[in-house]
Amino acid sequence: MSDSGPCDVLVIGSGGAGMCAALAASAGGASTRVATKSRLGASNTGRAQGGIQAAVGGDDSVEEHYADAFAAGHGAADPELLRRLVEGGPEAIARLADLGVPFSREDGGYRLLRTGGAQRARLLQAGERTGAEMVRALRHAVRAEAIALSEGSAVTDIAPTSWGFRVTLEGSTIDAGAVVLAAGGGMRGEAERHGLESTNHPDATPEILEMAAALGAEIVDGDSWQRHPTGSIWPQALAGYALPETTRSYGATLHDRDGERFVEEMAPRDVVAAGIEDVVQRGRGVRAPNGREGVWLDTTAIDREHGAGFTAERLAYVHNRYLKAGVDITRERVMVHPVLHYRNGGLRIDRDAKTAVPGLIAAGEITGGIHGTNRLMGNSLLDTVVYGHIAGATAARETR
Ligand SMILES: Cc1cc2nc3c(=O)[nH]c(=O)nc-3n(C[C@H](O)[C@H](O)[C@H](O)COP(=O)(O)OP(=O)(O)OC[C@H]3O[C@@H](n4cnc5c(N)ncnc54)[C@H](O)[C@@H]3O)c2cc1C
Repeated sequence: MSDSGPCDVLVIGSGGAGMCAALAASAGGASTRVATKSRLGASNTGRAQGGIQAAVGGDDSVEEHYADAFAAGHGAADPELLRRLVEGGPEAIARLADLGVPFSREDGGYRLLRTGGAQRARLLQAGERTGAEMVRALRHAVRAEAIALSEGSAVTDIAPTSWGFRVTLEGSTIDAGAVVLAAGGGMRGEAERHGLESTNHPDATPEILEMAAALGAEIVDGDSWQRHPTGSIWPQALAGYALPETTRSYGATLHDRDGERFVEEMAPRDVVAAGIEDVVQRGRGVRAPNGREGVWLDTTAIDREHGAGFTAERLAYVHNRYLKAGVDITRERVMVHPVLHYRNGGLRIDRDAKTAVPGLIAAGEITGGIHGTNRLMGNSLLDTVVYGHIAGATAARETR
């Protein structure tokens, strides 16, 4: 087994949280390495289509962002952690824009969209590929900083030592003074364990969360899982693909088998998901040719509201994916059902992203407490940037 040489800070994972943490640790003067299961940036972060929330609108405030997120999370969020998240929003957007994320603009400012559970238009987007653009910009910055990389090898063990941790990867070990856990919520792995479909990347497995718990890190609301309300159930080639929340922001409506609307489409995610499941359980859903049951998402309403060509322009990615599968979403409704998406809870951290284990710091979807028991759409990408940065800075301080 080879040894990659010691470092001050080892970051496990290279989604938004891992790459933001690595940049902050390196900026804090720590020799930094990123260990990641496959290619740098291969992650759930890169899959995020919807966008990132931050109170940057002229009619908005961090207080309103806080109130929306706290209510959507059923009052279960840690108030201090949530406050830090929303207060860090505008600066996180400025940091991403500086790194080259091309946020969509209109009327001289950012283009903002109101999404489920939000009182204000607060969602920023880089086209419909916000996560991919974030990954592209962060990957470029990580490489430009010459941060050491261990790509293509999963971490299989984390063992405390007198000076920090010895981390075992497939084929090597790394000694580090502090470790940032940024390995995501692992919902693909949870879905496979339970025979369910999920929206998650194949690398989204929960073993790092479990290793941290075995070392003594506390878990908060770890079994609070979020389902994305509008997972596609047909055509079969798109089963499990989540139509972004923005389809409903732009006017798509939900209908039962008789065409009746049954839920407020702009309600928080868990309310919409529960509404769909209720319809299906009461036998008022629609059955797809593959036997799956769901409801109609009327995407044709979008162009009726905004004019022909709007869907093709603003939802080009979704439109094209469905076209390739033989469905024109501007002419036909689509069948949807909630699909496993996100771990609301996770490792308990303090305001500096420290877990209960000295030297183990955590950020991103692997953590819990920030969102409570239901996350507002767009707040997870924000979480990766705000807490990724905090975690990296803390890790650099811890190793001094
Ligand atoms: C389809 C989809 C759409 C989404 N859309 C949005 C959206 O529009 N807005 C929003 O705010 N949120 C969205 N989310 C949620 C959001 O993308 C994620 O919660 C967030 O990006 C998680 O970031 P992260 O850095 O914590 O983890 P991830 O991005 O999941 O990265 C985890 C990293 O850890 C690595 N890893 C895992 N295990 C190991 C191991 N054992 N050893 C080494 N490395 C390991 C992985 O390879 C990966 O690089 C979406 C999620 C999905 C799946």
